[in-house]
Amino acid sequence: MKIEPLSYEKKQKRLSFFLRDANPALANALRRAAVEEVPTMAVDEIELRHNSSVLYDEIISHRIGLIPLTTDLDSYNLPEKCKCEGKGCAQCQLKLTLKVRSKGPVLASELVSQDPKVKPAYPDIPIVKLLKGQRLELEATAVLGIGKNHAKWSPGLIYYKHVPIIEIKKQCTNPVDVVEQCPQNIFEVKADKLSINKDNVLKCHLCGACADTCQPKGSVEAAKNDTDFIFTVESWGQLSPERIIEEALNSIKETSKEFAKAIKKI
Ligand SMILES: [Zn+2]
Repeated sequence: MKIEPLSYEKKQKRLSFFLRDANPALANALRRAAVEEVPTMAVDEIELRHNSSVLYDEIISHRIGLIPLTTDLDSYNLPEKCKCEGKGCAQCQLKLTLKVRSKGPVLASELVSQDPKVKPAYPDIPIVKLLKGQRLELEATAVLGIGKNHAKWSPGLIYYKHVPIIEIKKQCTNPVDVVEQCPQNIFEVKADKLSINKDNVLKCHLCGACADTCQPKGSVEAAKNDTDFIFTVESWGQLSPERIIEEALNSIKETSKEFAKAIKKI
């Protein structure tokens, strides 16, 4: 198995890389471990002190629960793995307070966190809009959790696709049609001949429009590479994409160790 970097847009927290000499089972195991097993911080309990906004307490709580919080994995434990056995202590939870009495939108940035390392990843997320005389006061408790238990703890969008293999076996009689039908601009016509635009090849999502359009049939083939994948990690903002993959690999390692231990006992 080989990893080759493809692109890293730091501002968008989006990382893409090639996963080569692998197989779909391995790629999917990595994807699932990243989505479901990597812990992140999210609000899990809210004590509403005052809410005279137009939204019900439940809707406000739900919205706050979904706000991604920057996560410091090195300082907090999952409640079930904490020394306090899930009762709640400084090592497994923290408080955020919100007190707004002025009219206008209440933004995520108005949540005041006990720990400066754990705060809303995007300060401009709106929670509710207050009218004159309305107020919102609450205390929220954030804990580490995993995406398998609730999507609010999922660290991002993680997906992969097969590396496409596109081949022009012989020249088609209608190259312009093939260029027009491809939604990803993978083909071009040069000197009346169909050719592949190398810069766009990786954008191919194997829709097969080129193979269906070209005449005679079979002139163009679009197939998937079964061992090479383009993996993309788009973080929701709690963790960096590279930390998401690192933690996903740790989780696979831990699960494998447990499995090996269990099988020895049989
Ligand atoms: Zn604890």
